Amino acid sequence: MARNFRTEGIVLKNNRFGEIHKGVILLSPEHGLLSAVAYGAYSAKGKLRSITNPLCAGTFFLYRDPVKDAIKITDMDCREFFEGIRASIGKFFTAAVCREMVLKTFGGDAEETFSLLRGSLRLLDGCTEETAARLLAQFIWRYLELAGASPDTDACSGCGRRRAEGEGLVYRRGAAGFFCPHCAGDSGGEDRTQGFGTVNLSAGALGYLRYSRGVSLEKAAEAAPDASSFAALKKALLFLAEDLAGGPLNSIRTGSEVL
Ligand SMILES: [Zn+2]
Repeated sequence: MARNFRTEGIVLKNNRFGEIHKGVILLSPEHGLLSAVAYGAYSAKGKLRSITNPLCAGTFFLYRDPVKDAIKITDMDCREFFEGIRASIGKFFTAAVCREMVLKTFGGDAEETFSLLRGSLRLLDGCTEETAARLLAQFIWRYLELAGASPDTDACSGCGRRRAEGEGLVYRRGAAGFFCPHCAGDSGGEDRTQGFGTVNLSAGALGYLRYSRGVSLEKAAEAAPDASSFAALKKALLFLAEDLAGGPLNSIRTGSEVL
C-alpha cells in the first residue's frame, strides 16, 4: 500500500490520547475498519476537530508511517454530517447500534458493509421516527445476512420442519435459528425466567423478513407488519445483534428507552 492513500469512510468511534490527539476508527469500503490518528484534532484550532467525529463521512487522506506502522489522517473532505440523526435521540441511538455492531463484529465484505451502513444512515437522516425503527430492524437483519448469521424465516432450526402458512416461530436467546413451538419447548412466553429470553415471532413478522430479502432497503423500510408483530421482531433482532457480538452492546443498553 502506498504511503499516501485516500479512501471513502465513515467515522465510527473516537478516543482521545495525549492532550489533543484523536484516535479515529473508520469504516472504509476498500480497507474495512481502519484505525487512524488525527493529530491535534482536540486542540481549539485543529482543522480536523469537527470533521472526524462519529458519523462524519467523506474522503479521508491518509499517510501510513511504515516505521511506526500507524496511519495518520492528513486531511478529510467531509461531505456528510447526518445532522438529522444527531438531532433526534431515537435516531442517534439507532445509528449508535449500527456503529457498535460494525465495530464489534465486522469481518465480512467491507464494500457491502459500507454500502449498508451509508445507505441506512442516509435514509435515517431524513426519515420519520416510525421509519427509523424499521431501519434499525432492517440494518440488523441485513447485517446478519452479510455475516451469514441470519436465521431461516420459514423452517424450524431444531427439527427442520417448514412452518405452515400463518404459523410463527420462536426466537430463543443465544440459540442459533428460529424454532417451532415444539422445539422451543414449553417456553413459548417471553422472558419466563430471568436471563432466558424467548420471543414469539408471528407469521407477519417472519413474512416481513422474507419480503425484505428481495427488495431495496428503502422499500423494506416503508413496509412493516402490525405493531405488536413488529415490536416482537425488533426485540428479537436486538437480541440477535447481541448474540452476534457475543455479549451486550452498550448502545442497546444505554438506548433501551428510545430504541
Ligand atoms: Zn422444530
